[in-house]
Amino acid sequence: MAGPGGLASDPVVVVGAGLTGGLIALALARLGLTVIQVAPPSQESDASAFGASVTGATATALSYGSLSPGTTGRAWRNLERLHGTLGWTACGLKLHDRGWLGRRLTLPASRVDGPTLMAALPRALAAAGVRQRPALVQGLEAGAAGGWRLRLLDLPPTNQRQRPQGEPQGEPERWKPPLAASILEARQVVLAAGAGCLDLWPPLARQLGISWAGVLALETNPGNNPWLGQVARGRLVLTQQEQRLGLEDQAGWLAEERWIVDASAAPWGPKGVLLGQISLVRPLDGTRQAPDPARMEERLRQGLQGWDPQLAALVGPYRQIPVAFGRQGRALVGPVPGAPGLWSFTGFRSPFSTAPTQAAQLAQSLTASLTNQVQPNRRRTKQTDQNK
Ligand SMILES: Cc1cc2nc3c(=O)[nH]c(=O)nc-3n(C[C@H](O)[C@H](O)[C@H](O)COP(=O)(O)OP(=O)(O)OC[C@H]3O[C@@H](n4cnc5c(N)ncnc54)[C@H](O)[C@@H]3O)c2cc1C
Repeated sequence: MAGPGGLASDPVVVVGAGLTGGLIALALARLGLTVIQVAPPSQESDASAFGASVTGATATALSYGSLSPGTTGRAWRNLERLHGTLGWTACGLKLHDRGWLGRRLTLPASRVDGPTLMAALPRALAAAGVRQRPALVQGLEAGAAGGWRLRLLDLPPTNQRQRPQGEPQGEPERWKPPLAASILEARQVVLAAGAGCLDLWPPLARQLGISWAGVLALETNPGNNPWLGQVARGRLVLTQQEQRLGLEDQAGWLAEERWIVDASAAPWGPKGVLLGQISLVRPLDGTRQAPDPARMEERLRQGLQGWDPQLAALVGPYRQIPVAFGRQGRALVGPVPGAPGLWSFTGFRSPFSTAPTQAAQLAQSLTASLTNQVQPNRRRTKQTDQNK
């Protein structure tokens, strides 16, 4: 395929298929680059068929997806004009910690529904020409002749995930589709794998941290509560000040783990509700182990108790996921220092507000860098021709 400068372009590999991976892959494809997106299948029901070591769980699917106050949603409306519905919607916002006024006043807001976005992205990417490769990147190494080598664990396509006829039966739940190892080589690689970026390129830990976010995730809103009634009308129910951001700011100075609960609620998928959220940050000592979910759920419910005891007691599954954040509130958008051809697109503070625009800008920078690599070669060729 023709790339920038009219040269046949190597594909750009994007690692990750959540919000950031989806947006940067679409932006690169829009500029005419050949894009391969590598990530495990995003639907957990699908990924779970491969066993616990390969999951496609994303922070995006569990997110409230709210846009910061004052963000118009124009970038999302533009994306939807190009790619079809992605789950953006204007909605009301209730600030429940503002007492009587909070109950009376509905502020204008907007959000992107995580499950809707995750369901829509594969189709939008395919239509934009992005090749989606279902695989886990197990390692990333600089190639001997420049560029990058990605060690992949490939997952078979959906239609090959059934136990083949005639194979010995045994316990059906023990059967796992076969996985295959392979190598993918590329000159340009974009890390948009959320918390997974740190495993892929550990030096990013100087600028990137991880918090664990947990919520009660109910597929059906049980109603019978004024706040749940607001959520059923598509509204966000938040507090005036999100505490998570303050906690992330302190990450560099923490001597021990700390958590806070932002007591809030949001619509989730067509009928569900997310209640939360607890955020846990550890000292930046490289610990990646997931916190004990039972402890986290208990803390979350204690935090909700102060807001509304009925919500704190709701029966529903607790789910948690790591979220990458840039230290000092700065997202990592651009070339990775000391690693030519490696780019990062992660660590956003309010990614639903800022990542659409930043994706377009990073795609421009990456394309410009390719064009600059091409131009000197062309000039050199021209000079050589003249010398003949
Ligand atoms: C409860 C909750 C509420 C939130 N509320 C908001 C909000 O209101 N507004 C807002 O802007 N943000 C919010 N956030 C934050 C936001 O959702 C996340 O920051 C954002 O979705 C992260 O997107 P991502 O693409 O970076 O990561 P993810 O969505 O986690 O995607 C990471 C991708 O990388 C893949 N991956 C990881 N490792 C590998 C590997 N080795 N090989 C291949 N693929 C890999 C994963 O499979 C996945 O596809 C919230 C988050 C949570 C959990």
